[in-house]
Formats: sequence, structure tokens, C-alpha cells
Amino acid sequence: MDVNIKFLGGARSVTGSKYLLDIGDFRLLVDCGLFQGLKELRRRNWQDIGVEVNTIDAVILTHAHIDHSGYLPRLCKQGYQNPVYCTEPTAALLELLLPDAAQLQEEEARYAAKKGYSKHNPPLPLYTTEDAQAVFPLIQSQPFDEWISIHERVKIRYRYAGHILGAAIVEMLIQGDHQQKKLVFSGDLGRYHDPVMYPPVHIEHADVLLVESTYGNRQVEKEEVTERLAALVNRVVRREGVVLIPAFSVGRTQTLLFLLTRLMDEGKIPRLFIYVDSPMAISATYLYKKYQDYHKLKDEDLNDGHDVFNHPQIRYYRTQQASMSLNELRHPAIIISASGMCTGGRILHHLYHRLPRYEDMVLLVGYQAEGTRGRDLLEGKEMIKIFGEHVPVHAEVAMLAGLSAHADREELLQWLSGFKAVPKYTFIIHGETPAATAMKEQIENRFEWRHVFVPNFMESFRLFDGI
Ligand SMILES: [Zn+2]
Repeated sequence: MDVNIKFLGGARSVTGSKYLLDIGDFRLLVDCGLFQGLKELRRRNWQDIGVEVNTIDAVILTHAHIDHSGYLPRLCKQGYQNPVYCTEPTAALLELLLPDAAQLQEEEARYAAKKGYSKHNPPLPLYTTEDAQAVFPLIQSQPFDEWISIHERVKIRYRYAGHILGAAIVEMLIQGDHQQKKLVFSGDLGRYHDPVMYPPVHIEHADVLLVESTYGNRQVEKEEVTERLAALVNRVVRREGVVLIPAFSVGRTQTLLFLLTRLMDEGKIPRLFIYVDSPMAISATYLYKKYQDYHKLKDEDLNDGHDVFNHPQIRYYRTQQASMSLNELRHPAIIISASGMCTGGRILHHLYHRLPRYEDMVLLVGYQAEGTRGRDLLEGKEMIKIFGEHVPVHAEVAMLAGLSAHADREELLQWLSGFKAVPKYTFIIHGETPAATAMKEQIENRFEWRHVFVPNFMESFRLFDGI
């Protein structure tokens, strides 16, 4: 039996993760993500995926982030009807995230129709809310740390990855005609000292390893994150400004709430209102209570009286109208709104109103992919295009990389040092080219591993011959 892999996304890019495996006559996709950022990447969401959709037998997801799951509704729209395997918290998150992604697509199409800037006439969403709902009956959620058979020759096991709620490293055992082989997909790896998530589990053996490299060329300073966060907030409060934090509704939002309310209770920052401007954040926060085994927040952090997510300084804004009312805010406050890379959603109208104001601050807390407004802000662009208008950037832009949900270079290497034997092949994925190639050099120099590849988009490899 032969085993082949094809990189349909997440290769030399942090978005669009899709890894196609042909295991004899069993064909499966690991992750099914949406491309985001650069226009040439986003265009791929509309193009042929690179395989006949009705020949795919199964999809396995490492976690719920849209760049790993957001293509699923499109896949179903093209006729995919087979199982989607993932962990239980990931399944719960998908029920929030996929309809939200669909709604964003629909809003963008409507907006493009109004402004007349789409190539499609009339402008079309990539998928609709109904398409997103069509995914749910296919989802089969499974526990961590147990081998699960998904085919007579293939077993998988989810291992804790940190990163976000439900995120998994996927181990896969393949039974050939003569030999057994093991593939390991790192998914996105979390930090070793995250305030909310535990560190990723170490894996000791893989014949083939796919490892992420988002921060493959980046060492996040070992600064005390909470102290820097306090200093930034205090600076903005002194000039009577507003701190605007673009953050995905799941993960960093909860970590920020935990850190900010603690800083207030300890008197290290003034008691300000924290506006969580997201229709999803309350539900996502509820999932942290439901899945308490998967993170560090314990009963005393989550129960009545001490509940960090019900802190008196937090205001959850669900409706669009409430969200718009924040535009008038002229006294010190903190606004947390999605999306984290400023690619769409409510953050856009906040940026539109806040960027021209010298006293305000945009605080970036996660990875900013190329081609996103977040990246433009980080690189110091003086004008940002929002709603078809050029908006001047007068607000201070700050980055708190220590709050990222991704392992940095040393942490990636720390995770890799857990392997007791050298994998036959190592593929560096989920990183822009400079990050992925820097990671390859580090692995070759430090561990003397051989056969380390940075695959290209749509590149195929024969992993095993006649096993
Ligand atoms: Zn992720």
C-alpha cells in the first residue's frame, strides 16, 4: 500500500490549512481551512480545491479556528457528505464559528452589492448560514487521548495542544500490508506559560511529522505580559483614550478578560469598563465553564461571586446597535472586538472611528498575517482602507506578542525536542516562507534532522511505497 500527501493550503502561508492524504484507497483531509489575508490567497477560496470533493472519505480537524475549519461549509456545498472528526470542545466551537463566518460572508456580499465593488454580479457569499448548518450533522466529536478507528487501516488520537479550547495534535497510525506507520500533525501549538491554557503534550515518535511554524523566525520576549499590559492601559488612561483590542472571540478574549479583571482587582489599572463587543463572546465564554478540564481556570475563577467572565466591569454587547453606540465613547475604556487580524466584522467600524484619534490605542495581541489590516497597522502604515475609504492612523499601535496563542521559535523547538527518534520526513507548514525556512534551518542545525521540507502550495509527496 502507498501513502501520499498533497498540500492544498497552509503551505508557506498561515491560512487555508488543508492536507490531503491518500492511504491506499482511503482519502482524507486533515483540516479544512479558509484562506485569509492577501487577495491572491483569498481568491483560492473560490477556485477548485485541487481534488474531486466527492472522493474525500473523511475530514479531521485539529481545532476550530476558521483558517483550519472555515472551508467546511464550502466543501459541503460542493457535495461533501462524509464524517468530520474533531474533539468535543472543537465541535461546540464550530457551532458558533461557522454560522458567524457565513454571516460575515453574507454581509460582505451585501455590502459589495451596495458599493458595487465585486466581480460577481450580483456579489455572492462564499457560503451562506444554511451551508454552515449543513456541516453540523457530519460532525463526530471524540475524546482526547484515546485511539479511535476511522477506517480499517487508520486510527487517530487527539493530544492536548494548548493554543485554544479543544485544540489537538493529531497522531495517526496507518496499518499497511506489511508495516505500521505513524503520522503526527502538530496543528497549532500553544505556549508553555500561557495564563489560561496548559502547554502542548510532547510526542515521542513519528515517521512523518507536519509541524506549524507561525513564529518560526520569532522569539517572543520573556517580558512579564501582565505588567506590560498594565503599563499600556495606564498610558492610554492618562491621556483619556480608549484601548481597542482586535481579538478573536474565542481564546485571546477570555485570556484578556482574565488578565484585565485581575489587574483591576489588584489596583494595578483603574476600574474601567471592558466592552466585549461580540455576539459570540458570551457563548464562547460559557464553553470555558462547560469544558473546565481543558484549561487552567478553576471553579474559584468561574463560579458566582468570583466569576472572571461575570466581573462587574465587563459589558457584553450583542447587538449591532449597542456596538455602534461605542463609537461615541470619549472616556477611558477598553473595547475588545473581532476579528483579531482586522479582516472583517465589528472591529472595522471601531477602527474607522478610533484610528484618527491620537489619544486612542489599537493593541494587537495575536499573529497578523500578510495582507491583513492588522499587518498593515503593525508595519506602521499611515493610511488604512476601511469601507472603501482611506482612514489616517493617528492612534498609537502597540503589539503584545506575549499574549499570542502560538508557540514562539524556542517553544516550537522545545516541543520538537520531545521526539526520541528522528522522523523520516518533517514538513514545515503553517508559516509564511521566511518563518518556515528559518524553522527548517533551526531544525537541521540544532537537531541534525534530515529530510526537512518546506512544501509549496499544491505540492505532492510520496510518503511510503508498498508498506
Ligand atoms: Zn489556530
